[in-house]
Amino acid sequence: MKAQQIVKEQRDFFYSKQTLPYAFRKEQLLRLRKSIHKYESELKEALYKDLNKNEAESFFAEIGQVLTEITFLLKHLKKLMKNKRVKSHFTDFPAKSYTSPHPYGVTLIISPWNYPVLLTLGPLVGAIASGNTTVIKPSEISTHTTDVLERLIQETFEPSFVTVIKGGVKETQEVLDQKFDFIFFTGSGNVGKIVMEKASKHLTPIVLELGGKSPVIVDKTANIQVSAKRIAFGKHLNAGQTCIAPDHLYVHKDIKEEFIQHLQKAIEELYGDNPIASKDFGKIINQKHYDRLINLIDQDTVVYGGFKDDQLRKIAPTIVDNITHDHAIMQEEIFGPILPIISFENVEEVIALINENPSPLALYIFSESKQVQNQIIQQCTFGGGCINDTMVHVSSDYLPFGGVGESGMGTYHGKASFQTFSHYRSILHKSTKVDLKVRYAPYNKQKEKVPKMVLK
Ligand code: NAD
Repeated sequence: MKAQQIVKEQRDFFYSKQTLPYAFRKEQLLRLRKSIHKYESELKEALYKDLNKNEAESFFAEIGQVLTEITFLLKHLKKLMKNKRVKSHFTDFPAKSYTSPHPYGVTLIISPWNYPVLLTLGPLVGAIASGNTTVIKPSEISTHTTDVLERLIQETFEPSFVTVIKGGVKETQEVLDQKFDFIFFTGSGNVGKIVMEKASKHLTPIVLELGGKSPVIVDKTANIQVSAKRIAFGKHLNAGQTCIAPDHLYVHKDIKEEFIQHLQKAIEELYGDNPIASKDFGKIINQKHYDRLINLIDQDTVVYGGFKDDQLRKIAPTIVDNITHDHAIMQEEIFGPILPIISFENVEEVIALINENPSPLALYIFSESKQVQNQIIQQCTFGGGCINDTMVHVSSDYLPFGGVGESGMGTYHGKASFQTFSHYRSILHKSTKVDLKVRYAPYNKQKEKVPKMVLK
């Protein structure tokens, strides 16, 4: 079916008002949950084929996260859907005022290949909870997972409510030519710009969940052993192909050597001394990204790893040292298991470097000094992050997730997902019992006195 026809059918369905009641939304979330359970092993198999993602990771970083989002919104949906009373100005007396969430209507979700289940079904949970219909355009690169997602959606929902349109650039652009009421895009900044331009034709509101180079700062007060472990975990999940993975490290020069030793140890604890052979270590999604990553490795800077297997499309965890912002590896989001280390002497120089560069999606601070932690949080612009950990902020229902500046706009997860997919109407409900004449023309000196008294 053509995109135009699908959008028309979804708009008709939205205007039928069936998506509005709490009971309908709850029922659809329950159906989605049931289907995810049914397709769990197929999704895991597909993730393994696309990314060599191991079963544990497929569950805790993808499928399980969607289930948690469903559980959270089922628990809080009734309350979130309620109108929220706010104060009324005394000049409006007698009146009551409230905000009232309402679905946007027909929404579009475009998702990437790196966490194809989470980043497709995660936003869908928010769209359904908020009472929208949804067209999903998953990535054409993670083909196996996209095929399973298509079947899962087809079996669970009527296409006039939720449907999948598959395809690459051409098909996505055709979809984007349609008028949607809301667009939720996850992907790269360059494509984000195209999406924003297309959305502007219809003045469609959008959320852009983009990427970038997320820095980690390890200062000299850091717990080196724990820092190394948590950084190794965050960097190598999905072989580094994670939007909030640590991209590069700023490590204080006094602890750098010791830190690198602990980092190597931590990597070997995770994947053994031959990570390429580890069943738990992912592969690079396709040849294009594999070649791009291999080209980013300057062998003169490698202090650990640097191995690859062209057949398996795997690159071993690789640490490159004595890096500056002039190196090629610092010119783009790495999105793979290569970790550059930049040493520093004082934290002010790091803050200046972070602020000179595009605002990152995530920032991680490893420090036992409250003063250093506060200084970085106060002075740097970034989407979100952790103190003394990596990545885990993304899995909290209580923390809205999203970027800022070049790393995106808008947030979701938990309550924020409901809010993002809803328009909040502000309503002032006035009584007709009293009708003060002072606001109506003709005006005179007496009437002019009133605004002067109240508007200040
Ligand atoms: P991408 O931007 O290439 O593709 C994302 C989606 O856009 C896909 O569905 C694709 O089909 C479509 N697309 C690609 N080119 C297009 C074009 N010219 N016109 C219209 N649509 C187009 O991103 P990707 O390579 O799939 O994913 C990696 C990027 O996504 C990284 O930058 C990563 O940081 C980012 N990302 C961000 C988050 C987040 O939550 N903020 C999560 C995961 C990935």
